[in-house]
Order: sequence, then C-alpha cells, then structure tokens
Amino acid sequence: MKTKTENDMNPHINDIERVLKENGIDAKREEIEEKFIFAITTQKELSTKEIKQSIVGHYGLEGKFFDEFSKIKDINTEENGIDLSAKILFITERMVNTKNGEKKIKSGILGDETGTISFTSWRDMEFKKGDDISIKNATSKLWNDNAQLNINEWTDISLSDRKIENIPSRSNDKITKIGEIPDSMKNANIVGRIVDVRKKEIGTDDKKTITEGEIADSTGMLRFTVWKDMDIKKGEIYKLTNAYIKRWRGIPQLNIGDYGNIEKTSAEDIPDMKTLTSYHKTDIRSLQEGSGTQRVMITGTVMEVKDSSGYIKRCPECSRVLKDGVCSIHGSVKGIPDLRLKIIVDDGTGSTLCIINRENTEKLLEKSFADIEKEVKENSGTSEVFRDIKNRLTFETINIGGTYSSDDNGDMIVAKEAEWSQKDITEEMMTELEDAEDLVRRD
Ligand SMILES: [Zn+2]
Repeated sequence: MKTKTENDMNPHINDIERVLKENGIDAKREEIEEKFIFAITTQKELSTKEIKQSIVGHYGLEGKFFDEFSKIKDINTEENGIDLSAKILFITERMVNTKNGEKKIKSGILGDETGTISFTSWRDMEFKKGDDISIKNATSKLWNDNAQLNINEWTDISLSDRKIENIPSRSNDKITKIGEIPDSMKNANIVGRIVDVRKKEIGTDDKKTITEGEIADSTGMLRFTVWKDMDIKKGEIYKLTNAYIKRWRGIPQLNIGDYGNIEKTSAEDIPDMKTLTSYHKTDIRSLQEGSGTQRVMITGTVMEVKDSSGYIKRCPECSRVLKDGVCSIHGSVKGIPDLRLKIIVDDGTGSTLCIINRENTEKLLEKSFADIEKEVKENSGTSEVFRDIKNRLTFETINIGGTYSSDDNGDMIVAKEAEWSQKDITEEMMTELEDAEDLVRRD
C-alpha cells in the first residue's frame, strides 16, 4: 500500500519521467522519486512546477518543459505557486471575523477540463459565475482530505481568452442507499421518493425559509433539509447530489447546502408511496439486531416516563428542550412551550426510548395542549401535571409507530403515531393461551 503522499506525487513523477524520456534520458524512477521528495521537503518555497523544472535541470535539461498551467485534478497536496486557467462555476461572498476586524471573503468552485476545486479568495475580486479566468501564484491547502485553492494578495487574477468547456461533473455519480448511509458523509448522492415535505422559517432577526422532509428508498427513510426555499413535490422521485450527512440528535440527516443539488428523476427500484409509508410491525430485539433507520410499529409497556416529559419549553433557535430555561447550545433563552413524552417502552424482547410529539401526546392523554397549559397555570408549575402524566402512562401498553434509529448513545423511536393498545395485547394473549391449550390437548 502506498501512502497518500506517494500517490499524490505520482502524476508529477510521471511528468518528469515523460520529459526525460522525450529527451533521450533514461533515469531510474526511484532516483527521480528520491530527488522529488528531497526537493519538496527541503525547498518548501518552490512550487511543484519549479521543483519539476529543477529536477530535469539535474539531468542537464534547460528550458521550460512543464505546462504553464496546472490541471485541477493534479492539485491534491499543499502547494505554492499554482497557476491555473479555470472557469468560475459558483461564487459567493461572506463576512468573516479576523484579528484585523471584519473582512469580506469570496468563495466558490472553479472548474477545468480535468475537474473542479473549491476556492477561497481573501481579497475582493470582481468576477462572476461563468467567467473564464487565469490565476497566477495561488496556493492550495488540504481541508478534510480535499484540496482547496487559496487566492491571496500575492495572487494575480485576470479574465482569460481561453474558454473552458466540458468540465466533468463535480459529484461522483455513485448513489448511496439510504439504509447504508454512514454517520457522516460528504458528497452523498441519493435517489428516493419524497414521503413528506414542509417549509420552515428559521432565525429570529434574519428570517429564512428552509425546506425539509423525509425521503425514502427500498432500504430506509431519511430526514432531509434543503437550506433554502424550494418547490419539492411529495410523492415524486428526486435525485439529491452533493449532499452531506450529519447526525442530529442521534439520527442521520441529509443536508443540501450551497453546493448541493436536488432534481426530479425517475427510478424503477423505488417502492410506491404506500409501501414506503407503511409501518413494519416488529419487536425491539429485531430492531436492535438490525441496522439503519426504519419505519416500524411496536407494541410495548411503558416502563418509565422521563423527567423531561409533559409540558416543556424549547429553544426558539434550535428547538432543543430547555433545562431550567437554558439551551445547551444557545444559553439562556425565552422558551417556546410544547408538549411531549419521553418514555422507555419494553415489549418483552427488549426496551427502547420513545419520543412522542405534541399531537400524539394530546391523543394519548385525551387532553388538548391548551388544557395542559391551563393545568400548569392552575398548579403554578409543571410538577403536578407531570405526576398525572406519569401515573396515567406507567405500566400501560401502547402501540407506537415511527422511525427507529440507534447510535452510541443508545436507540430510540421517534413516534409518528401512538395509541393505547389494551385490545391488541388481550387478543395476542388469547391467541397465545389458545395455542398453549392446543399443545396441552395434543400431549
Ligand atoms: Zn438552542
């Protein structure tokens, strides 16, 4: 196995080898590699191009042998003095805080015939999307294993006559199945049916509309967030490209940011809406032995009602549940009241945490949110209300339908449906009893 540096070095060694061969010089590859490694470690101020130039110089070749411009696909280490001819595919600006105060930076994506690279410009540049530009003396940095181009005050940029076409697609085309999505991933591509979609307003001062929902394929379902207002149709199949996956309260979520894309597509292997949205009746042990996020239905007994159940307050920024008026991320905030249940349910094969939303909590308690709010006021606090809820639920049997997930912190079902289940259990017990009686009779 070659190390990353050795692999990154290969295109340059190939380049040197080619120039030497073309000029009738036979050099050992190991020797070229040795010279190259020596040069990049001892002459850090030189650009890769200058290093290559100096190595062929060692073999008696004078003159310019290497392309004036680097190709984007070859920029994969930290380098100085990069010259590039590229097209601006995307450009945006933002303010950042530096030790010298606020500074406007521009960032985006550049492309040439060999690939694409993201860039950050620390100086203002008056170029727009679609411009073909020539860049002299940029540097590259590695960021999460990907090279990024930095344009600083020593970099020259100008419009170029060289029109760049046929830029390869930025995303790799591999489609990941929802059930096989890791905890975190960049550049994920997913094809699935939109099971639900909602618009949501976020932010307090600077309001912004985002689009979120659930997307599903034959292997599972996933929450997605598009960080802008977008028209996405429920029930239709979409391809999401360049998305990134992040865990949010233990559940993987798909995010479409500035670089991501979402478009309508067709795919034969995506089940219909009815199949995707029906709950799969199972037991907790099977869930814990399986993997991925699934729509499931379980029947179990409430073993514990957690303290943070009942009338709660949420952070207006991130909707985390506040603890004594404090959000773990945003500090002391004015909370928004809500109603929810956080319970441990055991079905005889295992137990799991279940989170039940306001709507289903109202249904189970046969009380409206307004009723609960009134009770809290009358009792001047939540403790009475919590005790009532605890008494009403503990050791009762309920059916819960929702999304199951598990991570290092344990597992849980986020319920979409919840109902009392006395009847089901009785029926089930009757069947079991009848089966047992049958067995006795046969003996
Ligand atoms: Zn918060």
